[in-house]
Amino acid sequence: MSNNVIEMIVEIPKGSSNKYEYDVNTGKIALDRVLYGANFYPGEYGFIQNTLDWDGDPLDVISLVTYPTLPGVAVNIRILGSIKMIDNGEIDTKLFGVFHDDPRFDTYKNLEDVPQHLRDEIENFFLQYKALQKKSVRIDGWGDLNHALNEIKECKERFKKYEKQLATPNGKNEIIAEWKAKGLGQA
Ligand SMILES: [Mg+2]
Repeated sequence: MSNNVIEMIVEIPKGSSNKYEYDVNTGKIALDRVLYGANFYPGEYGFIQNTLDWDGDPLDVISLVTYPTLPGVAVNIRILGSIKMIDNGEIDTKLFGVFHDDPRFDTYKNLEDVPQHLRDEIENFFLQYKALQKKSVRIDGWGDLNHALNEIKECKERFKKYEKQLATPNGKNEIIAEWKAKGLGQA
């Protein structure tokens, strides 16, 4: 990782209301669900490989994009910050960035370079997108680049620690149960 650029694997292209998820164990991209409301992803959404966040999944990323790509595509993302999201009481941070290989975003070097409305739109999407599922999402503000880089580091270390257990059939559920029992990853 150099110049804060890191590879994201796309799961959901911008504009989609289908929540696709990559299954690490089967290698398939599966439809998890169609969003319950008339909501659509306001950016390219995916994850960073070989990381593990508190929800038992790889670290999530949402990125500004000009032209949507496809599920499964690897994209270089220039990380600008993070969104401190709490999903149903679980810490579920999203990294935020832009396509590094799109010259339209060349002047976006940190969070302050991003038009406020684009940030508001993304924040509003996450606050709303589970409303019809009767699930609550909270956002404890945005983190700066340092916060985002620290998240990446922690999630990489956590992945290494649990890598073997994660690859077992019930590994993810066991790990989450262990964390819950210890109060880890809870907001
Ligand atoms: Mg997540």
